[in-house]
Amino acid sequence: MYPAAFDYYRASSIPEAIKLLQEHPDAKLLAGGHSLLPAMKLRLSEPAALIDISRIADLAGVQDAGDRIIVGATTTYWQLMQSEVIRQSLPLLAEASGVVGDIQVRNRGTIGGALAHADPASDMPAAVLALDASIKAVGAGTYAKRASATEQALAGQAASDQAIERAASHAAEGLDLNGDIFASEEYRAHLTRVLTQRALARAVAAARG
Ligand SMILES: Cc1cc2nc3c(=O)[nH]c(=O)nc-3n(C[C@H](O)[C@H](O)[C@H](O)COP(=O)(O)OP(=O)(O)OC[C@H]3O[C@@H](n4cnc5c(N)ncnc54)[C@H](O)[C@@H]3O)c2cc1C
Repeated sequence: MYPAAFDYYRASSIPEAIKLLQEHPDAKLLAGGHSLLPAMKLRLSEPAALIDISRIADLAGVQDAGDRIIVGATTTYWQLMQSEVIRQSLPLLAEASGVVGDIQVRNRGTIGGALAHADPASDMPAAVLALDASIKAVGAGTYAKRASATEQALAGQAASDQAIERAASHAAEGLDLNGDIFASEEYRAHLTRVLTQRALARAVAAARG
């Protein structure tokens, strides 16, 4: 499949990208391209222009600012996995990046692209939500939701198998689950509970060392 014709612009700075966006309101930003290009090839998305932000130096990389860690929008999964700062301070982000797609996707896909694309099946929204990250962005959305009922059920409890099972049984509460050709609403609720239980058990095992 080939995408519909589009113009291509490469921005070398954040102000230049913003200016190009203002000049081309029907354009889309291009980061790793691993969500956008498949959608364009299927003609699910037909932007008039692409503004490539993948080479803007200011948008890439991880920075330890003392009281917080700043992750640039075009930082790739591979860079997150390799970053000593991330591995030491936010190991969840390194681990979550390591399970995304395959080597090609991890080499090109970016955390900013994943958050902006906001696919409900994507790994990054849940990871940044769990880490209580602040996102400095315009127009980004997240479909991930904090499992507050599970957190409340766990608060003050010893991390026993029973406590984990009880807490995980609340994991699908308040979620806006959708049924589609891949899975029914009920199945997704069930999966949410099962995966939450496994994730909690794994987190407890990791904390115990
Ligand atoms: C084979 C395959 C397997 C995959 N497996 C997984 C998986 O297991 N888990 C997972 O989570 N994801 C998976 N993905 C998706 C992958 O993680 C994408 O890389 C990611 O969702 C989008 O990041 P990107 O940098 O490629 O964004 P792009 O495709 O370049 O852009 C995606 C969207 O975000 C917008 N955008 C990009 N950057 C910004 C920005 N800085 N500010 C505002 N808007 C922006 C674009 O305009 C576009 O609309 C897979 C993809 C493929 C092709």
